[in-house]
Amino acid sequence: MSSKPMDQVTWQEIEPGAILTEPGSARGYNTGDWRSQHPVWTKSRCIRCGVCWTVCPEGGITEEPGGYFDMNTYCKGCGICAKECVTGCISMVPEEE
Ligand code: SF4
Ligand code: SF4
Repeated sequence: MSSKPMDQVTWQEIEPGAILTEPGSARGYNTGDWRSQHPVWTKSRCIRCGVCWTVCPEGGITEEPGGYFDMNTYCKGCGICAKECVTGCISMVPEEE
């Protein structure tokens, strides 16, 4: 596997079958850059239970100082956090907003 950043790797250098040879390699990339919507928290209604952080399948939520949560660059906009939030304080908004 090439040690170059992925955006500099040519197709000739990609592993056959595009096999990932290093675990956790997506950490170095902005994996949510193609999302069409993202979550927005109304923190005044958040009870800091952490359910949203638990259910996010992408590692797309980061706990902030004070125990509140917000999205990070790994969010792919699936909306699971908004669906599962126990107080309904997460809204999904179009990416351009
Ligand atoms: S929208 Fe999906 S990927 Fe983004 S923070 Fe919520 S659960 Fe995670
Ligand atoms: S699930 Fe909702 S209430 Fe619980 S921490 Fe997340 S945003 Fe706050």
